[in-house]
Amino acid sequence: MSELRYDALQRRWVIIATERQHRPQDFYTHQDIKPSGGDCPFCPGNEDQTPPEITAIRPEGSKSNDSDWHVRVTQNKYPALQLGEIDWELGEERLYERTPGHGVHEVIIEGQDHNKSMDEFSPELIFDIMKTYRNRLSVHMQNLYLKYTLIFKNHGVKAGASLAHPHSQLIATPVTPRTIRIELMSTLRYFAETGNCMICDMIERERVENSRVVYDDGVIIAFNSFAARFPFELLVVPVKHSTFFEREDDRTLRHLGICLKDILGRLRKALDDPPYNYMLHSGPNTEAKPIFPGFWSTLEKDFHWHIEIIPRLVRTAGFEWGSGLHINPVPPERATAFLNEIEL
Ligand SMILES: [Zn+2]
Ligand SMILES: [Zn+2]
Ligand SMILES: [Zn+2]
Repeated sequence: MSELRYDALQRRWVIIATERQHRPQDFYTHQDIKPSGGDCPFCPGNEDQTPPEITAIRPEGSKSNDSDWHVRVTQNKYPALQLGEIDWELGEERLYERTPGHGVHEVIIEGQDHNKSMDEFSPELIFDIMKTYRNRLSVHMQNLYLKYTLIFKNHGVKAGASLAHPHSQLIATPVTPRTIRIELMSTLRYFAETGNCMICDMIERERVENSRVVYDDGVIIAFNSFAARFPFELLVVPVKHSTFFEREDDRTLRHLGICLKDILGRLRKALDDPPYNYMLHSGPNTEAKPIFPGFWSTLEKDFHWHIEIIPRLVRTAGFEWGSGLHINPVPPERATAFLNEIEL
């Protein structure tokens, strides 16, 4: 069992996962070797090499753990956190707070094709993946012990993917991760001061300035972040204000799929299939114990779900680690112009 420890100096939780250091895939990560199709536990026919299926999207009549699935969800074979009885509350310990590593760590295996990337998927498969995200978020939101559920994707070895087969992961935690907490605080304060949702205001501003927008179909908009930390860092958001991804309708998820296909395709063509991470920031579990009473009272007006995409083109070095201040060598407006010139 792993452990969550609180770094009081940096005000952030850390997962200390001792067992994970022995997982065989780490070897691949260091060696830059990707397992090929035949050895891949995520390829169809190898279902017995993963923990049992939790849920899947599969053709009618097909049974659990059969090999004809479209999207398949299992527990991570080397989970950073595991479900258990959570009987913990922030206690007396002010300095070295710790708690057992309870939570959820799932893998979402995306399609049967080992060598395809998301931008090459059919719109139907991406829609199935988005529906799976929605399903898993709504399931974990019912667990009162889980404060936050993060879905993320690591594409490419340099972005942390230990298996080449397309997949995303989900980690649900009994604490609010620092990055989320900062966003919740910023948007809460912005709403208190202006009466507006920060991201709704950003959309308006992006449309007026029109120098960073890469995709806008009226339902989903994607733009290079104004203060991008990394070259080609993108933000993908629903145009209509919405706090919780798991409450989205099918139409929005279809549009989101088309948008992802478009911008990930542009990134691949523009930057020769770069490694990237994307992270889905949806609203937190408001049924779990809040930071202080009444903390969530304006959440549905102030927080707007979004996906952050970060191509991993530059290394984070000493200055960034030491200061949290990033040096981005590509102005976001130039990145946008470059992406918009790409013919798909
Ligand atoms: Zn595979
Ligand atoms: Zn909004
Ligand atoms: Zn975010």
